[in-house]
Amino acid sequence: MNVQQQIRAAAADSTEHFGVVIAGAGISGVGAAYHLTKQCPGTSFVVLETQASFGGTWRTHRYPGIRSDSDLHTFGYRFKPWTSAPIATAAEILSYMGEVIEENDLSHHIRYRHKISSARWSSEENLWTIEAIRTDSGEAVRFTANFFWMCQGYYRHAEGYTPEWKAMETFKGRIVHPQQWPEDLDYKDKKVVVIGSGATAATLIPAIDNDSAHVTMLQRSPTYFRTGRNAIDIAETLRALQVDETWIHEITRRKILYDQAVFTRKTFEEPEAAKKDLLSAVEAYLGPDYDIATHFTPKYRPWRQRIAFIPDGDLFQGIKSGKASVVTDEIDRFTETGILLKSGKALEADIIVTATGFNLSANGDMEFWVDGKPLDFADTVTYRGMMFTGVPNLVWVFGYFRASWTLRVDLVADFVCRLLNHMKQTGARTVTPALRAEDHNMPLLPWIDPENFNPGYMMRGMHLLPKRGDKPEWQHNQDYWAEKDEFPAIDLNDRSFVYE
Ligand SMILES: Cc1cc2nc3c(=O)[nH]c(=O)nc-3n(C[C@H](O)[C@H](O)[C@H](O)COP(=O)(O)OP(=O)(O)OC[C@H]3O[C@@H](n4cnc5c(N)ncnc54)[C@H](O)[C@@H]3O)c2cc1C
Repeated sequence: MNVQQQIRAAAADSTEHFGVVIAGAGISGVGAAYHLTKQCPGTSFVVLETQASFGGTWRTHRYPGIRSDSDLHTFGYRFKPWTSAPIATAAEILSYMGEVIEENDLSHHIRYRHKISSARWSSEENLWTIEAIRTDSGEAVRFTANFFWMCQGYYRHAEGYTPEWKAMETFKGRIVHPQQWPEDLDYKDKKVVVIGSGATAATLIPAIDNDSAHVTMLQRSPTYFRTGRNAIDIAETLRALQVDETWIHEITRRKILYDQAVFTRKTFEEPEAAKKDLLSAVEAYLGPDYDIATHFTPKYRPWRQRIAFIPDGDLFQGIKSGKASVVTDEIDRFTETGILLKSGKALEADIIVTATGFNLSANGDMEFWVDGKPLDFADTVTYRGMMFTGVPNLVWVFGYFRASWTLRVDLVADFVCRLLNHMKQTGARTVTPALRAEDHNMPLLPWIDPENFNPGYMMRGMHLLPKRGDKPEWQHNQDYWAEKDEFPAIDLNDRSFVYE
């Protein structure tokens, strides 16, 4: 017997059955659990989570300054008001999620330290068999479920992405990836180089530039940022008027989403004007003499990559004061004392932080099988970025890039609960998305159009992701403003759904 067979044999004796298994207790998994209890009361379910507690992204990332880059009115759930400043620390987000779990009595549904290793669908039994390893004891455990709700995010939590540069091993200082920030890292009075200029770099730098000797943000190419007060005017006004927090949450969400829709439209219809708006806000902090053209003017149009919000311009304030600086250049090699750039310039460093992104992991590093055959998601076509052709009774939550992830957690949950209730009413045991006759000549394209959105982790991992078609049903269009109306109107009797 190989290891997998041994695991299965050991686990077989103690199989537990649930109506739904949810993978992951991040913002998506906890949201799924909440909606199941409210919209499908009585459904038995369990949430299996690798880590020792809930939070996902907000527990994994522990680097100084870790905070959201979008507002919590929309990153928070629609059902629980967010009552603090819109850009929140990881600790605040964890505390909010903890309240959701407590207020809705969800904790007894969650099994921590359970890493799902495989999920096997059997059409004979109409069941998923889900195997997990207990990370504390190494014990193998087995569950069966009618429905599998994948809320395991999109990147590997165990390790971040670090490119291979020449001579990295020669560097005498420490090289750190923000996703595994060492608790003992002492950056006081040290020269720090942060490679990358995405949201992580932009969050980390203002948190450490006071204590460090100096922080250099080294980027190959610039990124767009949005900046402004860490407050929402309308929320402040409504609070001053002592309006109920439930109303404040709803009205503030609508206002934010309205403003975002206007901005997003502008980036597509008048990209130069949108670009000018973003760059003038940066210039307002850095002054007219700063070389914004080199360091803050990306070559792509705004919104092809996520735009991080910089509260109170703290990143720019650090640059303005000289505590931090930006270098736009390419790495030639690491040296004993830092980094040699292609321009010939050398950057001295005691610590190098590689804020270079994630490793995409579309399936939470689980093995999938359907009726004895290994499943490669890249061979499937996605139904609206949440289900997959030929894969029965399974939904994956993948949020938005240009709007808060959680908006989609709520929308997908409404859909799943409606689908589960529909199946219960009609007596269907399985639902499998399938291309209809009219879809068979449809071009099959990569999960996302690189012209539309092209961050590095997506480009590196696109070949692993399901395909999309050219019709709304067969793609994740990344458009919250369309989906908020389309999702509730999905016809569950459409021929894209095959029930048995
Ligand atoms: C630093 C950072 C900041 C971000 N800021 C924002 C923001 O401000 N706004 C925004 O919209 N988005 C943001 N994002 C994107 C963010 O990841 C999502 O918005 C959201 O947190 C994802 O939630 P999730 O629950 O889907 O996935 P995750 O947070 O990734 O959680 C998935 C959970 O599933 C567990 N899991 C994975 N595989 C398995 C397995 N095999 N078995 C059991 N459990 C498993 C993981 O341990 C984890 O706890 C940010 C991302 C990062 C990294």
